Amino acid sequence: MQIKQLRDSIAALAAEKGVSGRPPRILLAAAECAPLAKTGGLADVVGTLPKYLNKLGFDARVMVPYHRVIKDKYGDRVEYLFSFYISMGWRTRFVGVNKLDLDGVTVWLIENEEYFGGPIYMPDREGEQYAYFTRAVLESLFRLDFIPDVIHCNDWHTGMLPLLLKTQYIDSPLGQTKTLLTIHNIAYQGLCKFDFVQDYLSIPDGCLGLMERYGMACFLKAGCVMADRVNTVSPSYAREICTWEYGEGLDGVLSLRGDVCGIVNGIDKTVWRPGTDKRIPANFTASKMNGKAKCKAMLMEETGLEVDLDRPLIGMVTRLVEQKGLELVMAAMDELLWNNDCAFVLLGNGNRKYEDWLRGLESRHPGRACAWIGYDDDLSHHIYAGCDFFLMPSRFEPCGISQLIAMAYGTLPIVRETGGLRDTVQPYNQYTGEGTGFTFSRMDGYDLADAVRRALAAYWDKPAMARLIKQAMAVDYSCDAWGYEYGQLYLSML
Ligand code: ADP
Repeated sequence: MQIKQLRDSIAALAAEKGVSGRPPRILLAAAECAPLAKTGGLADVVGTLPKYLNKLGFDARVMVPYHRVIKDKYGDRVEYLFSFYISMGWRTRFVGVNKLDLDGVTVWLIENEEYFGGPIYMPDREGEQYAYFTRAVLESLFRLDFIPDVIHCNDWHTGMLPLLLKTQYIDSPLGQTKTLLTIHNIAYQGLCKFDFVQDYLSIPDGCLGLMERYGMACFLKAGCVMADRVNTVSPSYAREICTWEYGEGLDGVLSLRGDVCGIVNGIDKTVWRPGTDKRIPANFTASKMNGKAKCKAMLMEETGLEVDLDRPLIGMVTRLVEQKGLELVMAAMDELLWNNDCAFVLLGNGNRKYEDWLRGLESRHPGRACAWIGYDDDLSHHIYAGCDFFLMPSRFEPCGISQLIAMAYGTLPIVRETGGLRDTVQPYNQYTGEGTGFTFSRMDGYDLADAVRRALAAYWDKPAMARLIKQAMAVDYSCDAWGYEYGQLYLSML
């Protein structure tokens, strides 16, 4: 559907729900928002979705902490609005409210030096940080005179918000506001000392069971129980988290709800489009691919690999954590590099164990393997554009944005069939020629190696490879359709 049709459809739905004469109001509350402060895919969603909601006729705004990184990079564009004090149990805490315009979207920044003057997640005090943030969000909304129809909470950081709203704000102007909780990753649940959270957020005794897990306060559980709707970022992951294997202990609560749905993330084509991307050495499109070879040559040179355009190049851009299936890479990559003519480049940082192993891999395969330890936006663009294949052997993957970006750049994903990877990558069928990438299902290094070998075999079949690249680049995870799906979900709750 064209954007105009989508807009009209949203307007009709809103009118059906009694919202007319004004746009439906949405507040996205989250710990991160790209490009202001980002550690993972959550930030991409929060930074991108409101732009597209507003295009569809919503009034979507964002509230995030005023983190140190934001102050340092964007401070001169931030406007101070007002400040006030809130009670957190017996303590009194300062709340500064600031505003920043991000491509036409209003982003409110909650300021408190004690909580947000340092890292985005303070070791050992994350629970306190985000309990404070949740209270500050609710208290700021009155003072901003912005009463949302829906507050869109994201992950455990704002998981307590539905519980507070429904138990402490029911008689306030926010009493009619609905809440949606999006689970971007169920592995992070915000487990904190129970007594502290009860006291800090003044949770009444009768509500303690709503957040209790193994004697701890679980922010995400509170959201799963109390939000009007819960969704996640792909249909497969929505099913998986209702099972014992992937539910991380919240499968019971989620299955009981019976309404958990999945919406695959869109990618921001103003950032991730090989035809216009200013960060890559040469632009290219599905019909004019010459630029991709130049990107490959530059990437090989930049990362110290032997420049050989015929040699298939496999890339990864990832946080180095267990979720991303690095054990499988460790099991398979040496053998793959020894026995096949291919090269490997990885950009990532995280767990020291993986960083050290990757440095070792680089030294065992000079000119054939590069481990770039760190976080580097520019290099990530170069890898998406310059590689032939993109590896994502995740143990679990709620949605995954990287494989969508890779496909947009004609870099064929090699993925494990889990969560959003299963929903978005169609395995290559060598008999029909259909597919957009290569997949395997078991958590096993041999299976990963087998998928890579299938990809390498396809690489040498030039017509098949060209067709696969075309098909991958044609996959459209546009943000308009994505915004529309969220729009429908919000309105279904009113
Ligand atoms: P997750 O949110 O679990 O980390 P996703 O695939 O959903 O995984 O999103 C990861 C995002 O973060 C992608 O945009 C990816 O390019 C980016 N990213 C991850 N690690 C790095 C890094 N070291 N340098 C630059 N970008 C990175």
